Amino acid sequence: MRCAIVHYHELALKGRNRDYFEQRLVRNIQFALQGLGITRVENLRSRIRVILPPEADGAVVSERLARVCGIANFSLARAVPLNLAEPNLEELNAAIIEELRLKSFSTFRVTAKRADKRLPLTSMDVERMVGAAVHERTGKPVSLKDPDLTIYIELLSKDVYFSADKIQGPGGMPVGVSGTIACLISGGIDSPVAAYRMIKRGCRAVFVHFSGRPLVSRASEDKVRELVQTLSAYLYDTRLYVIPFGEIQREIVLRTPAPFRVVLYRRMMLRIAEALARKEQCWGLVTGDSLGQVASQTPENLSVVEEAAGLPILRPLIGMDKLEITDEAKRIGTYETSIEPDQDCCKLFTPPHPSTRTRLEELLNVERALDIPRLVQQGLDKAELSDITFPA
Ligand code: ATP
Ligand code: MG
Repeated sequence: MRCAIVHYHELALKGRNRDYFEQRLVRNIQFALQGLGITRVENLRSRIRVILPPEADGAVVSERLARVCGIANFSLARAVPLNLAEPNLEELNAAIIEELRLKSFSTFRVTAKRADKRLPLTSMDVERMVGAAVHERTGKPVSLKDPDLTIYIELLSKDVYFSADKIQGPGGMPVGVSGTIACLISGGIDSPVAAYRMIKRGCRAVFVHFSGRPLVSRASEDKVRELVQTLSAYLYDTRLYVIPFGEIQREIVLRTPAPFRVVLYRRMMLRIAEALARKEQCWGLVTGDSLGQVASQTPENLSVVEEAAGLPILRPLIGMDKLEITDEAKRIGTYETSIEPDQDCCKLFTPPHPSTRTRLEELLNVERALDIPRLVQQGLDKAELSDITFPA
């Protein structure tokens, strides 16, 4: 029998929430593996077992599981039956040796774990016995410190599982256990990473994008759609609101002094995003701000922008450098899309000298020239909603 054995960090799962977290993780694994003919995902004690039918492609299963938040690591394993009272490792040894014929390695080690303490053999007994058998049949020496290949063995009550690979998952918590948040996504490198950070802590996410349409093309919208599709591999289903923002920006430009434009755009975005977030029952708004990165992200401007929102503003990248953010974007698969050229609405009519130390009183004064409720309503009326699911 082929299966995937999934491990999760238990620290976050202690106490009364544990059952709920585990059930959520099982459900998310089922969602992630949709379309692969997998029907059995079972919660065993401290691990989850996914039975793989013969037609399931191991590489695709691995790729999908590697994106399920809450998974610490997993392996694609084979199982052989075990008699608890009279454990006999011959069948296990034969199966391992057959599996190793396909692998090239010079040194190896065996790492065993025993879930059922009633088993008369300890983990170390199993490691020694299997190690001796592999050494005898392959002639390869054991290296405990730096082996080319590690054979992982798990002894459960009725079966033993073995595998020669352990694959890292994202860690974090199962999506859905931390409520829903609304992510402001721009098409740049930062905002998809910010969304991912919150998703990884267990949040469901919906996305809000402001496009410069009708003053610029749809290029940023196409990019954002692709980014949200990439992130949907962690979310299974999500929604994207696109708001044509060009007219609202034109009105800001006509009625207010140039240095305040950037901060005024941002405050207007937050108000519209907040209204959508409340409709979607979100508890917070997420941005990709990183302290000091650009004019809109000075301490003063961040504070002034924040004042426009009535929901918590979450900025998971606030203390990260661009290089760190870029590395993460590459890891999660959004970087290549983010660097494609587009026409970001924030660059529309940007003044040569934006205010970097905006004072709130001054800004509130400037903002009096705008009919804010009408502009917010105009944004909401024009919002275009798409449902995005994984697999596409
Ligand atoms: P990124 O856009 O990915 O952050 P950036 O450095 O261009 O890269 P800024 O333009 O400074 O970012 O914007 C900061 C944050 O404001 C973004 O991370 C995003 O959360 C939000 N934001 C900016 N522009 C938009 C937009 N057009 N639509 C939605 N959110 C936006
Ligand atoms: Mg940025």
